[in-house]
Amino acid sequence: MTWPTVQKDPEDLPVPPNLEEYRSARVGFTWDEARAALDGLPDGAGLNIAHEAVDRHANGPNADRTAIRWLAKDDRVRDITFRELAELTDRFANVLKDLGVEAGERVFLLLGRVPSLYIAALGAMKHRAVVSPMFSAFGPEPIRQRMEIGSGTVLVTSRRLYERKVAGLRDQLGSLKHVLIVDGADGLPPGTLDLEDLLAAASPDHRIAPTDPEDPALVHFTSGTTGQPKGAVHVHEAVVAHTATARFALDLHPDDVYWCTADPGWVTGTSYGIIAPLALGVTMIVDEAEYDTERWYSILEEQRVTVWYTAPTAIRMLMRAGDEPRVHRDLSALRFIASVGEPLNAPAVVWGQEAFGLPIHDNWWQTETGAIMVANFVASDVRPGSMGRPVPGIDVAIVHRVGDDEHPGVEVVEEPDVEGELALQAGWPSMFRAYLDMPERYASCFRDGWYLTRDLARRDADGYLWFLGRADDVIKSAGHLIGPTEVESVLTAHEAVVEAGVIGVPDPVAGEVVKAFVTLYPGIEATDELLRELRGFARKRLGPAVAPREIVVAERLPKTRSGKIMRRLLKARELGLPEGDLSTLETPYDATPPGAAGTSAPQGAGEGAP
Ligand code: AMP
Repeated sequence: MTWPTVQKDPEDLPVPPNLEEYRSARVGFTWDEARAALDGLPDGAGLNIAHEAVDRHANGPNADRTAIRWLAKDDRVRDITFRELAELTDRFANVLKDLGVEAGERVFLLLGRVPSLYIAALGAMKHRAVVSPMFSAFGPEPIRQRMEIGSGTVLVTSRRLYERKVAGLRDQLGSLKHVLIVDGADGLPPGTLDLEDLLAAASPDHRIAPTDPEDPALVHFTSGTTGQPKGAVHVHEAVVAHTATARFALDLHPDDVYWCTADPGWVTGTSYGIIAPLALGVTMIVDEAEYDTERWYSILEEQRVTVWYTAPTAIRMLMRAGDEPRVHRDLSALRFIASVGEPLNAPAVVWGQEAFGLPIHDNWWQTETGAIMVANFVASDVRPGSMGRPVPGIDVAIVHRVGDDEHPGVEVVEEPDVEGELALQAGWPSMFRAYLDMPERYASCFRDGWYLTRDLARRDADGYLWFLGRADDVIKSAGHLIGPTEVESVLTAHEAVVEAGVIGVPDPVAGEVVKAFVTLYPGIEATDELLRELRGFARKRLGPAVAPREIVVAERLPKTRSGKIMRRLLKARELGLPEGDLSTLETPYDATPPGAAGTSAPQGAGEGAP
């Protein structure tokens, strides 16, 4: 069914919008102008994200404005002004210097949403180290892989996370030199340093060294269909896109109180949960706790949040909780709600209208794009179910891949409403500059000057884009992008498992959940006990956000003649979908699993995300 368009009139908005009229904003926009709105390092010494996000404001009239209002799990509140943030990040940069860490070295963060995470991320960028935040909900295996691929030399973490997830694999992390513990006052694990002590001993004065806008600033890991996670490299220049898109797509104004619910372990939680709001001098709310309906409504009410950036899984959880937790709240401060990360279906957009008097504004982007590329804007009509239109400065096309491996090309689809791959004209400031150590993989993302997103979409006659699915097998669960191979390789590390095939199956709250099919060695029985053990095995290594919700034992798995497991067929059988071309299937496949060999693991929905 088609849902009626939500009509907008800029005159009705409580604050004059940053983007009032879509077409003229696009025509009038240049990245040079967006760049000119930034400060730049003093004396023309380049562009550094941390200068834009912190020092620029600390040295100006807004020095005493709250930069971060931190809400602790135990309800303590800590306000950090731009001036304080400048000093803390200066100290952190000096800690790295004192440890002998060089510019370009990689600093990994494994923390919950605590102030040290924000101080370390920005302080490391001041030192021109490269920051890689990881989800604290990850298990040891994703942590090991990322730190190994990224050759992390510094890890900032907590005592508990270190002891539970890192200590056991420390000897496998050859490049790791320094582990800084943020809460070491009551004792430090062997081989680690107390960050508080180091900060206290470090000088509070620091001057950012000249930074080339093309110097790497961040690495965010993302997953593909095959192989190991890929480290997408972003540079300091990305802040040009972070700020411009936050103005256009989130309508951020300097006096907003802004809450991005995403964890910095995901690119949204860094681009829009650290960099963009601070660079625009906006006060941002950081909540340490995981999703909780009452808590979330009370934050919106008590903090007088004006702009709220969240994710479909969270919206679906709020919808499920019904009206009761919300109706007695005064949410009148809220003026704009946006969502990203997974498809936001039309009923959720409309629910926003009913619940808050505001539609939920879907927007679209990826780890690789670094910033919002497609959005529903505050002053533009919203078509429920559509991701919106390209932000100014971004050119989008629907394309079909043509040619062969030697002469790859694309054909741009001009007609509306044709399904194809969503492509972006390469060259925007926050475009990823590399996958770490994977130059060919990186190059293969581009054809004829287009970056190919692996998302399938269509564009309607008015330029609104509609998400149709993924062109590959990656799974999106509660906002996490999960590579099936990463899960499969953990399952096959269990002594009972021969092969594993992992797919995403629809889930009313998380969008998709991970389901695994495994085959067992001859003579091994698929007992409940074994399945429980397998589930625990996967959960312990992968963490709850990535581990399969369900594991099923199959007699065999469908394979191509070249021996690759056909996840597509597993999925089609599971969901009763058309099976497509089966000409490469090795032998006819009957998916019926033997006996009652299945298991479901109820999980905390959305742990670690959104
Ligand atoms: P990540 O790199 O983890 O942020 O995941 C990016 C992927 O999430 C995209 O390629 C899409 O498949 C999906 N995604 C992000 N935003 C949306 C959206 N608004 N609608 C549908 N899918 C989305």
